Amino acid sequence: MFRVSVEDYPPSPIKAAQEEIVSNSYFQLCSRFQIESLHIKSDQQTGLKAIIAIHNSRHGSALGGTRSMPYANETLAVNDVVQLAQGMSYKSAFADLTYGGGKAVLIQPEHIFDRNSYFAAYAELINSLNGKFITAVDVGTSIQDMDVLAQYSDYVLSTSKQRGDPSTSTAQGVLQAIKSALYQHLNQYELNGIHVAIQGLGKVGIKLAQLLYTEGAVLSVSDLNPELTQICADIFQARIIKPENLINTHCDVLAPCALGQVITRQTIASIQAKIICGAANNQLDNPESAEKLHNKGIFYVPDYVANAGGLIHVVTDSIDQRDRKITEIYSAVSDIYQRSKHSTLSPLAVANQIAEEKLSHQMYFRQTHETRR
Ligand code: NAD
Repeated sequence: MFRVSVEDYPPSPIKAAQEEIVSNSYFQLCSRFQIESLHIKSDQQTGLKAIIAIHNSRHGSALGGTRSMPYANETLAVNDVVQLAQGMSYKSAFADLTYGGGKAVLIQPEHIFDRNSYFAAYAELINSLNGKFITAVDVGTSIQDMDVLAQYSDYVLSTSKQRGDPSTSTAQGVLQAIKSALYQHLNQYELNGIHVAIQGLGKVGIKLAQLLYTEGAVLSVSDLNPELTQICADIFQARIIKPENLINTHCDVLAPCALGQVITRQTIASIQAKIICGAANNQLDNPESAEKLHNKGIFYVPDYVANAGGLIHVVTDSIDQRDRKITEIYSAVSDIYQRSKHSTLSPLAVANQIAEEKLSHQMYFRQTHETRR
């Protein structure tokens, strides 16, 4: 099995960006990202080190994936989880779902000797929140892990019995977002001949590559795992790019589908793409980067809008409803673009404003409803 060493996580540009924004003060972090509560559990016997951040549970259970990574230290893990939790709330609000937002990270130990005990220990933390947090698969966890977790907790989605892997839906949503962005920003109706550079060929990236290839796009790809890039070269005629060069590739669309914080002050200077639209959460190192991209004429599609397909997948009851909501990502992106064009705001600022408005509307209706009862 392919494994990335601790040194690779986060990869160097990400590490550099994180160093700029990390905070050691967890109270400050919680207030900056408006986190409702932070929960930790450490279990020496199994090696579990779990952190759950709840950004908002006022509109229903906070939903968020469980990410497992060999974080270089606890501070990076906490910084990651709070930002990801906020993104989940915005994503849920934007897609008009009746869920709040949260996230969990597991600081991956070198070895997990007993997977069952490990996930049983993690389930205790989830269960202690009495349904305030519901989780699903994310980077570094699999459907099989969710199956094990579901033996010990009722608060798990995306198991093999229930809804399954959301990655295909995520990739379909990103495809909708790319198509909309192409039409809005470059007046292109179809993908035929459009050059897309994909960073990361994991569960989502490889499916996105397949969807794009089927519609005639030309692909450049990178991954830390050479087996995955070779598969894309063989099947989708993709050009393989070294991971450190992917961001600078001359292309129409840059699709970050690996980890977060790859769009930084340093990388923006060399980005050649006209559109950035991918599945990765928290692609920007900080909100100012959205302004810089906007000023440079690059359309950055807010990550939580483009990658909402996975969340939609795990919460919708029917395939029809799921497909309809995924298709709506197209119009959401068009709307953001048009509002940004007719204002002084960047697309991210527009999207955040819409998400905040939706959150406060939901809150208002909930309060009014509760008062009447
Ligand atoms: P994954 O772990 O299956 O794949 C990530 C891939 O990125 C791996 O193959 C890894 O080797 C590669 N990678 C890591 N660093 C890299 C680098 N510097 N350059 C090139 N490749 C690199 O994860 P996934 O489930 O495909 O998710 C990808 C991203 O999309 C994550 O940020 C995740 O949070 C986000 N996302 C995923 C879903 C989903 O349904 N899986 C939903 C919403 C958002």
